Amino acid sequence: MLKVDLGLLAQQHRIRIDAEVSAEDALWAELPWRFAEPVSLHLEVQQAGSDVVVRGEVDGVAELACRRCLSAVLYEVNEELIFVYRTGVAPVQAEAEEVYALPKKSRELDLTLAVREHVLLAVPEFVSCDDTCRGFCPRCGTNLNESTCDCRTEDEDPRWAALRRLRSE
Ligand SMILES: [Zn+2]
Ligand SMILES: [Zn+2]
Repeated sequence: MLKVDLGLLAQQHRIRIDAEVSAEDALWAELPWRFAEPVSLHLEVQQAGSDVVVRGEVDGVAELACRRCLSAVLYEVNEELIFVYRTGVAPVQAEAEEVYALPKKSRELDLTLAVREHVLLAVPEFVSCDDTCRGFCPRCGTNLNESTCDCRTEDEDPRWAALRRLRSE
């Protein structure tokens, strides 16, 4: 789906890709989270000299887990994409120039990896369901958003307990 025929691009100079990509599509398979609904993808692929420039937008809703309590957190992905493929550069040079290397004589360009990388970078690694999320008790595993447990005083810094003992003496 994200493959561009470079012969056709050379003729037309510009190719549009508009797709509604299923949340289960292999395109997203290697992401550390899943999309909650189909993802809309709009790309314009343009020949610019020996470069191929891709511009567009990806819109979807990622379903992440709260880092503290693991409940589902929805994160809207509305990301503008822009990336460049350059012909005749070695991979190291491509990395330095922040472009993707496009092997000479390629007939087809697969945008999958670049799109996946950009989507991955658009989503934070850690999210929480709420700033006040209290997460799980590290001792007994109680979800402290839902109930309390008796471990809390034991988790206290022992120096405070020592100080309190001194004061009460
Ligand atoms: Zn939470
Ligand atoms: Zn506890």
